[in-house]
Amino acid sequence: GTLPPAATCTDLVADAYAHALRHREGSVADYIPALASADPDAFGLSVIEVDGGVHERGDTRQRFSIQSISKAFVYALLCEAVGHEQALAVVGVNNSGLAFNSVVAIELNDGHPMNPMVNAGALATTALVPAADAAERWSIIHDGLSRFAGRELSVDEAVYRSETQTNHRNAAIAQLLTSYGRIREDPAEVVDVYTRQCSLLVDAHDLAVMAATLADGGVNPVTGARVVTADVARDTLAVMAASGLYENSGEWLFEVGLPGKSGVAGGLVSVAPGKAGIAAYAPPLDAAGNSVRGQIATAYLSRALGLNIFASA
Ligand code: GLN
Repeated sequence: GTLPPAATCTDLVADAYAHALRHREGSVADYIPALASADPDAFGLSVIEVDGGVHERGDTRQRFSIQSISKAFVYALLCEAVGHEQALAVVGVNNSGLAFNSVVAIELNDGHPMNPMVNAGALATTALVPAADAAERWSIIHDGLSRFAGRELSVDEAVYRSETQTNHRNAAIAQLLTSYGRIREDPAEVVDVYTRQCSLLVDAHDLAVMAATLADGGVNPVTGARVVTADVARDTLAVMAASGLYENSGEWLFEVGLPGKSGVAGGLVSVAPGKAGIAAYAPPLDAAGNSVRGQIATAYLSRALGLNIFASA
């Protein structure tokens, strides 16, 4: 990789961790009942270089549900399956400026989901993954996300059941997209596959491998397997940069300068193209649903390691 020497990286990860540890703002998501029991003090930080170098600190082996971070990787699978033009036509790539679970955003855009990083676009993305039926669609998504992680991921059944019993809003979004002809599959089945993908268990190490796979042009640096093409990895990063932290994506890009994607369980991935994947796990979230410590630690690392994609040197 093109990061500083390994010992320096390891020290800077420890510094970023200690810096973010001082922050106690934010609150754990509880609109999905099973998420409310997360440990607010859990904190892990992992950096994995495209050459395989690993720098970690804290609770990097503590598992949690991937939630919205799945959106970026399922979008990559969709792009791989249907191509750049088709993906653009069906899901869109502009920031909605609204909350991740906004219904209004769909109405304001003539029934067209704004982008695949918010729930409307993510539900459409999941629905559009080519498959004979919902079971095959789930198997393709499960297998694809596992290849990004380099190990077979499994579903947190308690989180899956908990969200299934309470996700009336996603059911409504899927129905609305159906009414606009944006979803042709059964909307209840689409919500079910989406809820399963969000319930996949990962740890910060897994997420850093997944992010490093996008950093490495679609090749998993640990397994050596190509998961998606370099063009798909590039397109996915563009969409993450524009909308990965929802309505706060502009501020994130301004402070951190990296494509990122957050999830409500407290995960946050960032990608330094050609260099490394970064992942944090810290459950307390800000008002937009992004991990507070995750953002602070990543901002620190982006500056200390010189990762901002807009910097000329
Ligand atoms: N499964 C969650 C939902 O659809 C994911 C949301 C998120 O991580 N922001 O509400």
